[in-house]
Amino acid sequence: MSFQDEHQENVSRRGFLGAGSTAIAALALSSVSAVAQQSVNTAKAESDHSFSDPGPENRPLLALNPDSNAPPPTDHGDIGPVWYSFDLAHKRVEEGGWTHQVTQRELLPSNQLAGVNMRLTAGSFRELHWHTADEWAYMEYGNARVSVMNPDGTMFLDDVGEGDLWFFPAGYPHSIQGLGPDGCQFLLVFNEGMFSEDNTFLLSEFVAHIPRDVLQKNCRLSSTDIAKLPTRQLYIFAADLPASLASDRAAIGGPKVAAQQQYTFKAASMPPTVKNAGGEVRIIDSSTFPVSTSIAAGVVKLKPGAMRELHWHPNASEWQFWIAGSGRMTIVMPEGRARTQDFKANDVGFVPAVAGHYVENTGDTDVVFLEMFRASRFVDFSLNNWIGRMPPEMATAHLHLDASTLRKIPTEKNPILVG
Ligand code: MN
Ligand code: MN
Repeated sequence: MSFQDEHQENVSRRGFLGAGSTAIAALALSSVSAVAQQSVNTAKAESDHSFSDPGPENRPLLALNPDSNAPPPTDHGDIGPVWYSFDLAHKRVEEGGWTHQVTQRELLPSNQLAGVNMRLTAGSFRELHWHTADEWAYMEYGNARVSVMNPDGTMFLDDVGEGDLWFFPAGYPHSIQGLGPDGCQFLLVFNEGMFSEDNTFLLSEFVAHIPRDVLQKNCRLSSTDIAKLPTRQLYIFAADLPASLASDRAAIGGPKVAAQQQYTFKAASMPPTVKNAGGEVRIIDSSTFPVSTSIAAGVVKLKPGAMRELHWHPNASEWQFWIAGSGRMTIVMPEGRARTQDFKANDVGFVPAVAGHYVENTGDTDVVFLEMFRASRFVDFSLNNWIGRMPPEMATAHLHLDASTLRKIPTEKNPILVG
């Protein structure tokens, strides 16, 4: 039984809309209009007693996820969890800021990347530390100073603002400090699904757990000096604002100790990779940000009604962070499994490796989201582009459309389609 036959049988078995079910299902399957699709869903939900729910219901949550409550008739089967929200995650609040995380523990299939969202008030530090994973970051708000040292002793110091990125390789010691006027907030992405923000190597714990006499010998300090060192972790803590970037750079030795690599990327001032009336995409990977060898990103803006076209990525699963707006995504998997999920700001989305998907802005404000990959390069295949490269008879045989109808389909990759 084909997917469509099976689907239509399901539709008939549920009995909604009676004899019209085939026509409605065909409309739903062929429609490219989200509005038409949603009105079909709504009509279905309202008229079909199978959707009735005597309760209990978590109404605010249902309202956020209409496509889970009343799935489009094209959804089928189970593809596993594809959604979580930072607003469900425990927040660790310290003097100077807070942090919380969405990892494979929260989103089980996401075994390639994990995310941490962190806030630092003006002057406050995320303590000097390192970890087993590479760290990629997106500045959501405010200003920060970052530092990272190379094994050869050269040091990188820089200031970043909203929209900027950084990348720190695994094991490289680094710090983040909130600057004026109101500190910063940023998303960290790590190339380990099971990464934990609590499982990092801290400067404070390194010195706290070395025998005192060894520390004296190594650092050439007196026992009085040693007694002043922190004896427990600092992690996030309040501090005074730093000197200017220029004077901090000069204070450590100037150009002769400056790192040659550029560990930050001023994405906010980068021209869009693609821009049209539907929005814009900035692709940042090792081709534009050379130190970022293990994490690739797309920063996508969609105007109301616009969509990120039907596509897939051959090299990785996709981890999304939703920065603004509201939208929906459908993911299609083998054996006719498909899931449509709604997203809002601060949500995390997940697309299993190589699965086809789109993202549509269903709200009346701009959608902004990150597409993240554990990969050196951002790579995608466009469905329209693929159809456009099929010889006409091949396309007709597969899609049951004649040559003139096929010519309506755009032939080139276009990440953003106008609504
Ligand atoms: Mn870190
Ligand atoms: Mn994608």
